[in-house]
Amino acid sequence: MIRVTLVIRHTAFIKEAALNSELGHLISLQDVDVEIKRLREEVESLPSRRDELERQFAESVREYLAIKQELDDAQAEKRRLESELENEQQKHQKFKNDLMKATNEREYTTAVREIDVTRKTISTLETEVLKLMERVEKLDVQVAERTPEMETRRIEVDRQLKEWLASADSNQQNLDSLRVERAAKMQALGPDARATYERLSRMRSGFALAEARDYSCMACRMKIRPQVFNDIRKGETIITCESCGRILYFKVEAATT
Ligand SMILES: [Zn+2]
Repeated sequence: MIRVTLVIRHTAFIKEAALNSELGHLISLQDVDVEIKRLREEVESLPSRRDELERQFAESVREYLAIKQELDDAQAEKRRLESELENEQQKHQKFKNDLMKATNEREYTTAVREIDVTRKTISTLETEVLKLMERVEKLDVQVAERTPEMETRRIEVDRQLKEWLASADSNQQNLDSLRVERAAKMQALGPDARATYERLSRMRSGFALAEARDYSCMACRMKIRPQVFNDIRKGETIITCESCGRILYFKVEAATT
């Protein structure tokens, strides 16, 4: 029990010592940069995440839209045939009138023939309209069955988009304040440390520092000599990895767990 307390006090001392040094500034600068990078990536990925979500939604409603299109087509075809039927019925009526008014054999024969032709056309059209009515009814049912599910999906997509937009907003605000924080931290560094950090950060995609643990550089796995490792633990001077060039630091938390 006493031993544990001692370890914690010891590591707390190291942490404090590190944070008071330039190395401490560098560690917190990298923390800020890592967070800036994470938030920026999240903000920047919003359009592609949104596109992907809409694509998945479109895919999930593809069948539904196809049925809906089929219904629209069937309804349009039904309307077309109904008007054709009406037209044919008017013609049929006209020939019936012609028959009544027929004054000679030729007019009479023509009227009888046309009445027969239009009757057949009417019958065919009526059958087709009937078939289409059944088809429209069936498709109507199918669309009605799927509509609530589609609406639920759309609501879910909109909810997700709204959530992402809100989080992008707050991420953007965090980014703004982190950038201010970063500028202050940079200002607090000496010119040499600042230049080294900037150079390494560019070279190592945002990771200018690496943790030294178990006598190794955690970034490149290079072994660290015990004497050097002890110096890193002290955190008083800036020591870089002989292999990858990153600034090495000793993480206090790693020792307590
Ligand atoms: Zn290294």
